[in-house]
Amino acid sequence: MTGVRKEALEVFTGEFFDDLVAGSDVGEKVRSCLQCGTCTASCPVARYSDMGPRELVRLTLTGQAEEVLRPEVLYYCSACYSCSVRCPMGIRLTELVNLLRDVMVSRGEGPLPSQMELVKSVENYDNPWQMPRAQRDRWAKKIQPRLKVLPKQDAEALYYPGCTAAYLPNMQKVAAATARVLTAAEVDFGIMGREEICCGSTAMRVGVRETFLAQAGRNIEKLNALGVERIITACAGCYGIMKHEYPRVAPFHPEVLHVSEVLADLIEEGRLEPGPVERSVTYHDPCHLARHGGVTSQPRKVLESIPGLELVEMSRTGSNARCCGGGGGLRTGHTDSAVEVASLRQAEAVETGASTLVTCCPFCEMNLSDALGVGEGLPVADLVEIVLESVSGGADTDSDDEHDAPGLD
Ligand code: SF4
Ligand code: SF4
Repeated sequence: MTGVRKEALEVFTGEFFDDLVAGSDVGEKVRSCLQCGTCTASCPVARYSDMGPRELVRLTLTGQAEEVLRPEVLYYCSACYSCSVRCPMGIRLTELVNLLRDVMVSRGEGPLPSQMELVKSVENYDNPWQMPRAQRDRWAKKIQPRLKVLPKQDAEALYYPGCTAAYLPNMQKVAAATARVLTAAEVDFGIMGREEICCGSTAMRVGVRETFLAQAGRNIEKLNALGVERIITACAGCYGIMKHEYPRVAPFHPEVLHVSEVLADLIEEGRLEPGPVERSVTYHDPCHLARHGGVTSQPRKVLESIPGLELVEMSRTGSNARCCGGGGGLRTGHTDSAVEVASLRQAEAVETGASTLVTCCPFCEMNLSDALGVGEGLPVADLVEIVLESVSGGADTDSDDEHDAPGLD
């Protein structure tokens, strides 16, 4: 826990509400709020809650803790950073929501039961999906040549698929495609197999700070000890947590890169030569990658390098992209609202006339795919799947045979 946040939690009582905000990471800036409402107008979730971010700030500043610290208010946020990037006063509202969630949970008033199930699973199984640790590396057993497993073997980089791509059967294709593309480019990388643990994002986003800090602390120690220069991830959630939150928890040495950044470099250096893919696609920017991480040009460079592939942009792109609704615990806590938000993004995708909606976050992909059940939409694919199709000439590289890789058992 950072000093300021710890202090803020310690000094908090209803009557010292000003101290909570002013002494926190969010800081004094909150006091400069103009009550202009830009945040609420930007919020993809405000319509489902009885309180938008503008009102949240007003009540926070006027010390009305009991009005603010309620699960039915604070869990209507997908941590999309739209309010934070648009606020004319530079107030980091997303972090304010995080802080208020921390305080609410410390008072025993959160998270929601469905969110707590995931947190308990992280505590008990090191993943939010209640899956045994022994199955974490199953996705890798189909990959040939066999992947290096760290720390038994050495590599310059670690590929960290994260819990969703490692465990969920419909998302393991992302882990497999990422490994195959990195292998095709002769990147010197390995995986941690069963030794990999959850990044802690699930706990952090819903305000279970102690669990997040415990998980992050263990993971930082493990990852530092590997001695790798780079960690590559294809999950925007893992990327955001490792890149922005881990250095605030403890010294963290490896450089964290999203796979789209790595692929853009590999293509520019001529180490990866995309072949033709005759398709028209549109691209959805994950919030944690684009708005929070500033990674917007690299995925587009990758797509634009593929001969025959046409990229048709939606009306809202990059840091202005509409959120898919999948993050911040919204999908777990308020699934219907999350899927409705995704259906609005899908409608924008349909307007482009493209045939495929490409993104590069398993959580975005799941939520955007679920929206197909409530309205019009496009089939969703990950960027790495498109690149794999491009470099392998469209061949199905999946094998039905499972190979036991050394070190994976
Ligand atoms: S956008 Fe910023 S200044 Fe305007 S109401 Fe929201 S927090 Fe206040
Ligand atoms: S982070 Fe996104 S969802 Fe959360 S309050 Fe801000 S605009 Fe709304």
